Amino acid sequence: MNKVASYLQEHIAGEVLVAADARRYFSTDGGVFQITPSLIVYPKNLQDIRKVTRFSWQMAEKGHRLPITPRGRGSDQGGAAIGPGMIMVFPAHMNRLLELDPKRRLARIQPGMNFRAFQDAMHSHALFLPPYPSSIDFATLGGAIANNTAGEKTVKYGAMRNYVKGLEVVLANGEVIQTGRISKKEVEQRKGLTNFEGEIYRQLDGLLTDNWEVIQKHASGLQVSKNAAGYPLAMVKGKDGSIDLTPLFVGSQGTLGIVAEAILSLEPYTPNTVLFKINLDDLNQVDAVVKAFMQLQPSALEIVDKHLLDFVSKASPNQLKGVIDAPYPSFVLLAEFDDPKESLQVKKAKKVEKWLKQQKIEYVATQDFEDQQKLWAIRHSAAAVIWHVEGTKKALPIIEDGVVPREKFKEYVDSIYGMFKKYGLDEAIWGHAGDANLHMQPFLDLNVVGDRQKVFKLMDEYYGMVLKLGGSTSGEHNDGRLRAPFLPKVYGPEMYQLFQDTKKIFDPHNTLNPGVKIDVQLKDLVPMLRYEYSLAHLSDHLPRT
Ligand SMILES: Cc1cc2nc3c(=O)[nH]c(=O)nc-3n(C[C@H](O)[C@H](O)[C@H](O)COP(=O)(O)OP(=O)(O)OC[C@H]3O[C@@H](n4cnc5c(N)ncnc54)[C@H](O)[C@@H]3O)c2cc1C
Repeated sequence: MNKVASYLQEHIAGEVLVAADARRYFSTDGGVFQITPSLIVYPKNLQDIRKVTRFSWQMAEKGHRLPITPRGRGSDQGGAAIGPGMIMVFPAHMNRLLELDPKRRLARIQPGMNFRAFQDAMHSHALFLPPYPSSIDFATLGGAIANNTAGEKTVKYGAMRNYVKGLEVVLANGEVIQTGRISKKEVEQRKGLTNFEGEIYRQLDGLLTDNWEVIQKHASGLQVSKNAAGYPLAMVKGKDGSIDLTPLFVGSQGTLGIVAEAILSLEPYTPNTVLFKINLDDLNQVDAVVKAFMQLQPSALEIVDKHLLDFVSKASPNQLKGVIDAPYPSFVLLAEFDDPKESLQVKKAKKVEKWLKQQKIEYVATQDFEDQQKLWAIRHSAAAVIWHVEGTKKALPIIEDGVVPREKFKEYVDSIYGMFKKYGLDEAIWGHAGDANLHMQPFLDLNVVGDRQKVFKLMDEYYGMVLKLGGSTSGEHNDGRLRAPFLPKVYGPEMYQLFQDTKKIFDPHNTLNPGVKIDVQLKDLVPMLRYEYSLAHLSDHLPRT
């Protein structure tokens, strides 16, 4: 063990690792980049996080850089859970549900808690946390908070930010703060503090006040229904002068502070839903159905295309047997209504059926749980692409997650198909039709020079296209390293400058997940591109406890 690691090990209750295999293991996440860290830390408690963070800050003050990348399960697809200094891994010890108040529908959790375990516990109280990602089985709540995750229920319930009511955050220098909305009077009191927290409130309040109009203008600028890119500055300060730092930390990917605890709000869980499967052969029809359904507030409105189903039936012939038969329609939509009042659900279902019949659109509707699970397998079959290996080619998460204004959905799909054709790639799309937020992962071989070049060409073209349609580069997977170079284009130079200033206020020595979100150029990514791609760490290595 080197000197630094020994020093840290002596001072914290958790563990510190520097073994080559551990560093290699944590050199990748769910994305296409690789950076080998110097050491791994498994914090056991708040004090451990504070000590390590303070140590990193003091090192930086002396000109030595040992930054911190907080990490949940490392399923991030944009390279946000890797970094060159210390990887601070939460699922090992800080993984508990600390408190649940079912009546007030509030839970207090540690960041390393597995999302699925949390959700199962909530279901037994007739509650649930709606913005679960499709990676729910391995994702942690800390990762979900830091990424502002979203998923199939977001069309009705919104993203993670809606459900984080307060945070305990370790700041860059090791100080601890509790977040939540505080009044103008309290803001003035905080600004009077002589510590780093006081400095943050002074500087941030100044930045928000001085740039109020720019921030408000941009807040109403992007016409997308969900957005994980950038920092949501417009949500921090109220017109009444109150401030809440919570929305700023949510989605900040560990670049502004480290989440040590969170208070989450929950929704009543309705296991009895009605689910529609609709087969469509025309994109205009998809548009029309989405528009009609959105008026009835579905709890999910998901899409897969024929190319995905063709792929699944070839790669995994039994997976969809008896659920949907070839030849497949061009698109399948799944629409769910989860209204707790059954009479309302029935009313909506009747309305939908009447409309579909008028339009002569083929559909299946069911309230049966088992049948619904079978139909959901159509949407969840997208996992077959993600985990598939085609010779030396892998499905790479490089152009995915763009979200566009709902009225641009058809153009978005057409453009994606055009791009895949242009580059001679097999197309397949899936995602959240109700939010006009789609996923796709082209098969490429990272050992082939031509394919490595294609990665960057495709990124440029895809994210350029999304921006041209008035969209955002990330609906839910966040900027990470992958999409960070495009962030100035999503928001424009004025707003981007404010993001840079915000980062400086919270992280003056750049010790918190540097190289993520802010100040990243495409050329920085080239040397980090992996030569192989795998998600094996999500299935073959479990956290330490
Ligand atoms: C197959 C697959 C499907 C996916 N589907 C979805 C989806 O439907 N929706 C979606 O939104 N995402 C999805 N993702 C992306 C990812 O799984 C989610 O964002 C997930 O919530 C990340 O959780 P994690 O524990 O793996 O976090 P990690 O990958 O470990 O970390 C993610 C980010 O959070 C930061 N972080 C972690 N813990 C803390 C902490 N305590 N304090 C501060 N920062 C912290 C990390 O530094 C990093 O920036 C998918 C990924 C895969 C591989």
